[in-house]
Amino acid sequence: MSVEKRTSTNVLLDTALKNFYGAAAEMGLEDGLVEILSRSERKVCVSIPVELDDGTIRVFDGFRVLHSSALGPGKGGVRFHPDVCVDECEALAFMMTWKCSLAGIPYGGGKGGVSCDPLELSPREKERIARTFAARIEPFVGAWTDVPAPDVNTGGPEMIWFMDTISKMRGRLEPAIFTGKPISLWGSKGRTAATGLGVATCAMELLKVLGKPVKDATVAVQGFGNVGTYAAKVLSEAGAKVVGVSDITGTYFCKDGLDIAKAMAHVSNHPKKLLEGYQQAGLEKLPLADVLFLDVDVLLPCALEGAINAKNADMVKATFIVEGANGPVTPEADAVLDAKGILIVPDFLANSGGVVGSYFEWCQDLAGFFWTEEEYNERLLRIMRDNFHRVWEYSQEKSIKMRRAAFMVAIKRVADAVRMRGIFL
Ligand code: GLU
Repeated sequence: MSVEKRTSTNVLLDTALKNFYGAAAEMGLEDGLVEILSRSERKVCVSIPVELDDGTIRVFDGFRVLHSSALGPGKGGVRFHPDVCVDECEALAFMMTWKCSLAGIPYGGGKGGVSCDPLELSPREKERIARTFAARIEPFVGAWTDVPAPDVNTGGPEMIWFMDTISKMRGRLEPAIFTGKPISLWGSKGRTAATGLGVATCAMELLKVLGKPVKDATVAVQGFGNVGTYAAKVLSEAGAKVVGVSDITGTYFCKDGLDIAKAMAHVSNHPKKLLEGYQQAGLEKLPLADVLFLDVDVLLPCALEGAINAKNADMVKATFIVEGANGPVTPEADAVLDAKGILIVPDFLANSGGVVGSYFEWCQDLAGFFWTEEEYNERLLRIMRDNFHRVWEYSQEKSIKMRRAAFMVAIKRVADAVRMRGIFL
């Protein structure tokens, strides 16, 4: 029997499946396991009726997908974005399974989202969406079932609304169901910066194994949200020159290096948290897409999926790409970049600092005992460095790309768990 391969019209899901099938074939994974792991355990679709501030009613679509619980409860964020759909959530849940497995943390993969445009919503409207979404997915989440977290356009406030809603519905406090909560409310010191710190750590470890000092490295960062800002901050503090950053308002370029602390302060004071209007000596404002084509050592795509694709890959001039976003490089672009000799640290290794940090928060919530930021960062750095080197060394040993190596390491751990646990009944 040969496996009938799933395909999807959703680029992200199709990409994730292709990468999985390719790695599974290379490692000789048996057909039954390929079948099991190419499907999701559960896909929940909910409607979210909400009264807007002007009194009108709108119904939003929400989703929560659990791809695999072989290694533990589902883990993964919830995003608020107009493009959210069930296939996108499935793709992201699928990638969370490999991300958690590769990171060596005791979780399966989950992901959720609400199809909405947060830029058009007031805080009260967002709260109503968050609470109704939480209430509708309540049967499917739990500290040992599925543990959501922040993702694109969500953060501490949304996690608290989710947690508060579920705690009130269950009549008991449930802090360990959601991670990424504010520090004062069962959150964890270090979690906000964790994903960016992990991305920057992978970039620095890569430069180290290639013998290039961080101090001489130039960097461009696409996306100046939670991941991009902290990645840029850590790299610039380590002495790298961050020459370009971007958000939906354009590319901000300074050949002598941007003042990242100043840019972050500007964004946090901006009503919509954007770089719009940012000024510094020597700054040039370039078109939005140009950040991807800057002549730099390291490019960090930290925005959305598909940013580097068949249409623009040949214009990329960076030497290395460290993927901060989930799925920023399409398979077609991957092939073009590979032919150009551009080395890529894949998303589910590079951006795993967020979920590793979530694991720390979950442990602290379950124990009711909180760590210092130093303890948190020390453990995070150790895990990120070890994971980078495990994948780097495997890719060198097998002469394969880091993405393929990472998939093979991750799939093996999940496949072993499924074999050991067996198939129920
Ligand atoms: N949304 C983040 C990710 O894609 C974090 C997930 C989590 O902490 O569970 O990895």
